[in-house]
Amino acid sequence: MRPTAKLHLGNYFSVLKNWVKLQEDNECYFCVVDWHALTSDYADTSLIRYYTREITIDYLSCGLDPEKSVIFLQSQVKEHAELFLLLGMLATVGRLERVPTYKEVRAEIKDKDLSTFGFLGYPVLMAADILMYKADAVPVGKDQEYHIEFTREIARKFNALYGNVLAVPRALFAPIAKVPGIDGRKMSKSYGNAIFLSDTFDEVRKKIMPMVTDTNRKRRTDPGDPDKCPIWLYHLLFNDDEESRNMIANGCRKAKIGCVDCKKILLQKIKEKMEPIWEKRAKLEQDQNYILDVLKTGSQKARETARKTMESVNEAVRIGLR
Ligand code: SF4
Repeated sequence: MRPTAKLHLGNYFSVLKNWVKLQEDNECYFCVVDWHALTSDYADTSLIRYYTREITIDYLSCGLDPEKSVIFLQSQVKEHAELFLLLGMLATVGRLERVPTYKEVRAEIKDKDLSTFGFLGYPVLMAADILMYKADAVPVGKDQEYHIEFTREIARKFNALYGNVLAVPRALFAPIAKVPGIDGRKMSKSYGNAIFLSDTFDEVRKKIMPMVTDTNRKRRTDPGDPDKCPIWLYHLLFNDDEESRNMIANGCRKAKIGCVDCKKILLQKIKEKMEPIWEKRAKLEQDQNYILDVLKTGSQKARETARKTMESVNEAVRIGLR
């Protein structure tokens, strides 16, 4: 995760929840990629450290466990820069310019300077982040598929040139949870429609209550269609009680339940699910030293693995004294 914003429910349901599950049976590395934040935000770095701590708090409060996983900060493992440099020799400019998100993001974001070498080369840095740990699998959202493909290509090219040193990873997709923002579009901090993991119950309530529901349901007596309503999608995420869900879906279709009541039930379900996360978050916020310690210890562990990888990489490329 790039430390350019706090994490929201979209991040939680589409990625973070899956990470928490994966750490039970796998050796996992989870990183806050602060150098990646610079690829788009180099001109204003004032909040990178703040968001680094906030994202680490989000990680821990959602259940990532430093005893089970390596949780670290990219810039504290300098080997990432070293591998980025070496892989950069193999990546052609034409290939990088064809990365779909490169053109899309440049067309969309006009208030930042994205004409830099750093922004063009970020898929190479991402490849270095992954290949450093000889990852079998990378748990990502579908939108990252192309980046994993790029990583596989560059690993294969490296291995073909220098010998079989880098593991070629595969993408690991979780069943995608569709998480709408409070305006019904995809939840995204850049759309200003996100419910953040750090939001209090009151803030969540203020975001949920004014949300537009099925637009055909103008009056309480009009039947509605849950499938056209973002509140229903939230019920699918937060409301595990099948009886309650059936009551809502049927009640909506037959105009037996009003949207205000439906939202109140949802808020109760959100509270039940999120309370343990909020409580953990509140405690962690008070212990900033612990947060820094988690990142320091994790970065130390990551560095040990990274050093070994770089020894074999440099040996294969025949770089350094021998
Ligand atoms: S009753 Fe619930 S599901 Fe139906 S339109 Fe209203 S908020 Fe949406």
